[in-house]
Amino acid sequence: MSVPLRQQWAVGSYLVKQKLKGVKKYPLVLMLEPLFRCNLACAGCGKIDYPDDILDKRLSVQECLDAVDECGAPMVSIPGGEPLIHKEMPQIVEGIVARKKFVYLCTNALLLRKRINDYKPSPYLTFSVHLDGLKHRHDASVCQDGVFDIAIEAIKLALGKGFRVTINCTLFQGETPEEVAEFLDYAMDLGVEGVTIAPGFSYERAPRQDVFIRGVDTKNLFRGIFKLGKKRKWKLNHSALYLDYLAGNQSYDCTPWGNPTRNVFGWQKPCYLLADEGNAASFKELLDDTPWDKYGTVKNPKCANCMAHCGYEATAVEDMLANPLKGLWVSLRGPKTSGDMVAETQPNYTGGRKTSISEIPVKIES
Ligand code: SF4
Ligand code: SF4
Repeated sequence: MSVPLRQQWAVGSYLVKQKLKGVKKYPLVLMLEPLFRCNLACAGCGKIDYPDDILDKRLSVQECLDAVDECGAPMVSIPGGEPLIHKEMPQIVEGIVARKKFVYLCTNALLLRKRINDYKPSPYLTFSVHLDGLKHRHDASVCQDGVFDIAIEAIKLALGKGFRVTINCTLFQGETPEEVAEFLDYAMDLGVEGVTIAPGFSYERAPRQDVFIRGVDTKNLFRGIFKLGKKRKWKLNHSALYLDYLAGNQSYDCTPWGNPTRNVFGWQKPCYLLADEGNAASFKELLDDTPWDKYGTVKNPKCANCMAHCGYEATAVEDMLANPLKGLWVSLRGPKTSGDMVAETQPNYTGGRKTSISEIPVKIES
């Protein structure tokens, strides 16, 4: 486990409180998107195809802090767009840190060297740097040469200044377990606190649809990675059961309210990934008015193939609380990497018919 004890304790206490209070739907991580504008245009991005008037919108410092207070989650992830473009980001981060919430400031690192002195190292602040692999893979993923080298220099600079730094890695088509293992070894050598790793969600809005890995290919890829990782000491910022789920050993429904999203439109229903399902005016309205039963891989074709941590990490944490011995067992031995996978539940929106990938609607744009 790579997360510091202070954070484990704070999050653990929060979870126990929710259980003691009998709260059924509680947030774990607030996804705060104060802007969609980015200084890159990655092939698998589902956030940057808005018209300029939307890309120019910003959440104010007050709107961000109100969202943090309204939601109450112990952790706040700030993705985007590129958050470092937001001129008031230092004040937003300072306000969240002052509330003793753990903030993950996600960045592609292009502006980190220039902006780093606007931030103070804190146990509550982590720079989560976007890196999808080693040089060749990452530069291809972000569609721009040289970004990997800039990100690595920025990571070294941030570590040298005493900041907490993690890497946020998304896996796409064409990855091999060996390639990912080499990247994770490299990340550990850099000295980062941990790596979050997940398969890319097939955004309908992404410029390219052929980059996403799906279904059993994803599980086989993760099994291959974890097999290679058995003798290595990788620090992955996930619960043991979420990793086990990625390897095809757990059958989970998603828990979209675990990572609620506040962006320039309001509170996005139902999750960070689906953009066209409407917005709520408040967190309470999001919880009360979202038709949660409509979402999840077996319930909604838009969710097909989703295994993202913003949907399933909270499910794994719930499972860990309900079945601590199972959680402990998987933590100790690592995810199972051979033998049968759990049976895939058939989507109920097909009326019980088996579906194939080719039946899932995919929007393709040139
Ligand atoms: S994936 Fe991240 S870095 Fe890439 S264009 Fe989208 S917001 Fe920017
Ligand atoms: S499965 Fe859950 S997290 Fe994934 S897109 Fe659907 S609602 Fe969102």
